[in-house]
Amino acid sequence: MTGPLLEVTDLRTQFHTDEGVVRAVDGVSFDIGRGETVCLVGESGSGKSVTSESITKLIPIPPGEIAGGSIRFDGMELTDLPESDLRDLRGSRIAHVFQNPQETLNPVYRVGRQIAETIRIHEDVGKEAARKRAVDLLDRVGIPDAAERVDDYPHEMSGGMKQRVVIAMALAGRPDLLIADEPTTALDVTIQAQILRLLNDLQAEFDMAILFVTHDLGVVAEVADRVVVMYAGRVMERADVYDLFENPGHPYTQALLACLPGRGDATTAIGGSLPSPTNPPDGCRFHPRCPHAIPDCKSGDQPPLHPVPDPDAVATGAGNPAGTGAGGPPGEPVRAAGPYDDTDGAEEGGWDEVREATVSGHVASCIYYRQGYDATTVRHDDAAADGGSTDQGASGAAGDEEGGGS
Ligand code: SF4
Repeated sequence: MTGPLLEVTDLRTQFHTDEGVVRAVDGVSFDIGRGETVCLVGESGSGKSVTSESITKLIPIPPGEIAGGSIRFDGMELTDLPESDLRDLRGSRIAHVFQNPQETLNPVYRVGRQIAETIRIHEDVGKEAARKRAVDLLDRVGIPDAAERVDDYPHEMSGGMKQRVVIAMALAGRPDLLIADEPTTALDVTIQAQILRLLNDLQAEFDMAILFVTHDLGVVAEVADRVVVMYAGRVMERADVYDLFENPGHPYTQALLACLPGRGDATTAIGGSLPSPTNPPDGCRFHPRCPHAIPDCKSGDQPPLHPVPDPDAVATGAGNPAGTGAGGPPGEPVRAAGPYDDTDGAEEGGWDEVREATVSGHVASCIYYRQGYDATTVRHDDAAADGGSTDQGASGAAGDEEGGGS
């Protein structure tokens, strides 16, 4: 492999509305290698779908616009690509599967015809050859009696069958990258498991990369190689799936994981709601809901992504500054040996001097990971013991309202 298949760097996607500019995606970076599955995860409204749709400019332009950043696919810069070239790319090298197959399929055409038309848009083949390929694709995605079901109308199929047809259409162009946006959300759990298995099998067969968009960490555990956690248009944490579940570094990730059955209190929920997309709060965008917030979290910019220390590599009690899924309080942060240089004095104390230098490794956007940050003066448990004499006390109360979000 010569490099990532897809590299998204500092992507900014905005929508111009009567209420103001919605910065739906505000500086997002990640990459995907060939044959790899990367999950974008977060609550509804976190910007993950807009991120995925920005890749092939499926967002409505206007009111939307790609306001900045770079999207490189196999060496091609997609943000500069003319619409005609993008149209060729969609459905061939990059294919999308959406949540509701009913909305993707045309109800008045037989499914075989819809798949065959997709094939003929991208390949110079005759009707009969395209129909044969459609039957073959239906067979590959597990439709029984594919030679007969190819003449079904969508309404003659179950929800799971329809989603298999949509996946067959997506595979018709033999894509290098499949973007699957909540493809199993509308399905019951049994069918969901079948579709996830199917995608896994097809990925191995076609050597496809998959960008999987979901709010469901249970699905993430099933399919992901690496995970990008988004909140309010920003990346809060990036990690491989094992690190994310074993050592969640960001309080938002910890809160999401605590909502999973078997990991947290069964009644756990993340209290509060996403901030206004037109007027997000200063500082860390998660601070109004974060039980670990300190005064410094509430001003300036979003903390940059810093390496999350490996708890196996540090002394007991010092490995996980922002608290862990195991419920430990923040300890003293470890000066991480990462690719960041926060010591050049270019902007003393500012966040902006330290931008994302890499898209790999386990990183989180939390103040507790800033190099050299002296957490001993801002430990939230100390502040609470002081009777909430700092802003942290107020944040802690918000956390309590949330039922202990993390
Ligand atoms: S501790 Fe501060 S920077 Fe970290 S997630 Fe909470 S509010 Fe954000």
